[in-house]
This record gives sequence, structure tokens and C-alpha cells, in this order.
Amino acid sequence: MTLGRLVSLFTMLAIVACQKTIPENPKDEGQEPLNIIFMIGDGMGLTQVSTSFYFQEKPSNFERFKTVGLSKTACTSHKVTDSAAGATAFSIGEKTYKRAIGVTKDTVSAPTILEDLEKTGYKTGLVSLTSITHATPASFYAHVADRDMHEDIAAFLPKSGVDFFAGGGLKYFNKRKDGQDLFSKLQESYEMDTTGLINKFSKDKKYGYLLAQNELPSKTQGRGDYLIEATGLALDYLTKSDEPFFLMVEGSFIDWGGHANDKEMLVQEVLDFDKAIGVALDYVESHENTILVITADHETGGTAMGKAYELDQNGKKVEDPDTLDIYFNTDQHTATAVPVFAKGNGEELFAGIYENNSIYHKFMKLLENSDFQ
Ligand code: MG
Ligand code: ZN
Repeated sequence: MTLGRLVSLFTMLAIVACQKTIPENPKDEGQEPLNIIFMIGDGMGLTQVSTSFYFQEKPSNFERFKTVGLSKTACTSHKVTDSAAGATAFSIGEKTYKRAIGVTKDTVSAPTILEDLEKTGYKTGLVSLTSITHATPASFYAHVADRDMHEDIAAFLPKSGVDFFAGGGLKYFNKRKDGQDLFSKLQESYEMDTTGLINKFSKDKKYGYLLAQNELPSKTQGRGDYLIEATGLALDYLTKSDEPFFLMVEGSFIDWGGHANDKEMLVQEVLDFDKAIGVALDYVESHENTILVITADHETGGTAMGKAYELDQNGKKVEDPDTLDIYFNTDQHTATAVPVFAKGNGEELFAGIYENNSIYHKFMKLLENSDFQ
């Protein structure tokens, strides 16, 4: 064997070793392909989740899960991560540096789970409350060195192949500093709407909703049931297709409530996300071969729920035993592990304590054997 042939053999072996092990065609050999619903509560630690136990009359949807794990959120550059490194760990399966979008710690583009699944024929969807170019959704379809490169991130969307997306960020498409009209570009492949969700669709078309110049309003400022409706619409649309699907839904403003140390906002955003989770849980309970995983990229605010006080008639502070108050330790993210909730086919895999990027590998493992019944 010549040296040249040896080198090319090694190159071939290296390529084979590097390839992701998603089945070429998941529908081969009678295997039912797995649908994935992945929900990210940005900044949602255990205290945030616990507000859903105490600040509403109805039972929390989080209590419908039997399989719970903990995810360790540190990134390669900082013990306290951000949403870009957090979401990229989920999307590419590798921890990376703070502010990275879909790139490794060496700033090399890496294929995301959404892109990999698309190549095998999956339908894909992204739902967010922020600009669709914001760190969490962007990490699933874009590859840039820094999260603030919104116009560069936006340029990835028309060619991304994502079948359904809903969020804000219209200005990064139609009012760009570089003058490009990416909105028209989107219209070449998508039925676009900028005014509201439309509950009428054809399974053969792609849909894009850009419903705000920047982000959608917070729950306290009034956006109605957008997140719940967008989650339901995405699931209806993706189910109508004959292909399996991957859907990411973000409860974006739990984090923003934490940054603002705004108790009311935090609680409202958690309760809104809880309702969207209810939609996804109902779906998983009635559709076999679907896995629903809910987690956070990190905790925000160093929050705790503790004693609430009121003033008695003498102006003295007394504990009110019937209510709880929310306390913040910081207006930043924290390094506390965040909960992971899983339901559906293969949920057991998500029990335990592991690094955030393991969630990607757990999905991959399930996809490799997506024939369990
Ligand atoms: Mg986010
Ligand atoms: Zn944040």
C-alpha cells in the first residue's frame, strides 16, 4: 500500500469516526422515528419552577413528570454561563464559550441537532418570545462568533430549512443596516406573517411568524396566550406532515424577570411557560414515540422563595404564614444546576446529574434506537 493510499484510508476512517450517527433514513427497517419536543425555560431554576406550585390555583404541569434530572450549566470560558453557550451546548453537543452561537470553543461552526435531523427528513420548528435571532433560538440554526451579531444570525434563517418559526426580530430582516431585504428572501420559501398566528396551514408549505420588531411583550405587558397558541400551532402543523419532527420552544422571559428582579414578571412568565408545557404534555400523552424534555440554560437571579411579611397595626413587621415572597441575590445568571423534566419514549435517560451538553447526546442515543415501544 502506498503512503498516499494509507493517508486517504486514514482520512476516510477519520471522516467516518466524526460523522454523527443519526440513521440515514429513520423510517427504514420498520422503525418509527422519534419526535422531539425540547422546551427551554431561559433562566428557569428550581425556585422559578417552584413558583408554579404556589402562585396559581391549578396544579402545576411540572408535577405531571415522573422523570427528573439535573443539568450542570458551566461553559468553557466561565463557570456562570449565558444563554448562547447554554443553548449551543444543547444544539451541538459540546460546551463552548460565553456568547458563542452554534460554534465550538474554537469558534468553528458545528452542525446543530436541528440541522442534522433536517438532513434526514425531519420537519423542524422554533418558537420564542424574543427576536428569532436572539441567543436561544439562534443557537439551533446559526453559526456566529458572538450573540450580538443579529444581522449575521438573521442571514442564516432563510437558508436554514426550518419549517416553522415564530418570534420577534422583524427589524433584522426588513430594516437592516446593510440594506438587504431578507424579509423578501424569507417570502421566497415561507408563508410569512407579521400580525398574528394564523390557525390555517398546508402541510406542504413553510411558515414564518415575525410578530414584533424586537421581542414580543412580556406577559405582564400583555401578549395574550401567544406562547401557548404558538406551541399548539407548531405541534398541529408538524404532526400533519408525514415526517417526524424536532420542535424547540423557549419560555424566554423567565430570565428577563430574574435580571429585572421583578417578582411579578418572573411568576407570570413561569405560569405562562407552565401552560405551554401543558400543551406539550397533552401531546406526548396522546402521541407515541415522542419525547418531551424541558430544562433551562441556567438560573437567573439567585432566587429563593421565603417568608413574606406584613406590617401589623403598630407598624411592626410580622410574618404572614399564608404567603410567600421571592428574594433575589443578584441580577445576573447563577451557576446552580437546573432541573430537567422528561416524558415520553426514552424518558429514563434523562434521570440523574449530568453536564448540559449531555442532553444533546441523550437525544442522539434515542434517535439511534428509535424503535422502542
Ligand atoms: Mg433566551
Ligand atoms: Zn439572561
